Amino acid sequence: MSSIKEIKKSLLNNIWTLPIGATAALLSGLISEVAPLVLPHISKSVALKLCLLFLLVCLALTAYIFYLRSCVRIKPKFGVYWDKELNPYCPSCKSLLCINEDLVIYCLCCNREMPLVSDKLITLKEARKLLRN
Ligand SMILES: [Zn+2]
Repeated sequence: MSSIKEIKKSLLNNIWTLPIGATAALLSGLISEVAPLVLPHISKSVALKLCLLFLLVCLALTAYIFYLRSCVRIKPKFGVYWDKELNPYCPSCKSLLCINEDLVIYCLCCNREMPLVSDKLITLKEARKLLRN
């Protein structure tokens, strides 16, 4: 894939960050206008408590994001594991399996082929079709 196509794909995959950035810019503008009016009327102890509360909420949300990113939920079927995007994972080391040009599924970590077995040997395309149903 050429680098221009990769950049285009990356931009399309991350287009969702635009509304978040616009919202953050709007909020920071709003806060910069409101803060000088409100801050003189708030005592330092209350302001400190609000800052600590905000910091704790940010830390908790960051920890939750890392927790969600760390757990890829995979389920066993046809002798391998599958994530929700129907990508196969190795049953031994649980790493993402590769597909070569002969459409053979294999694990780079374990260095072995992984046959997909239902009642008989099935292809990756058939396995994905069965998993969708
Ligand atoms: Zn493996």
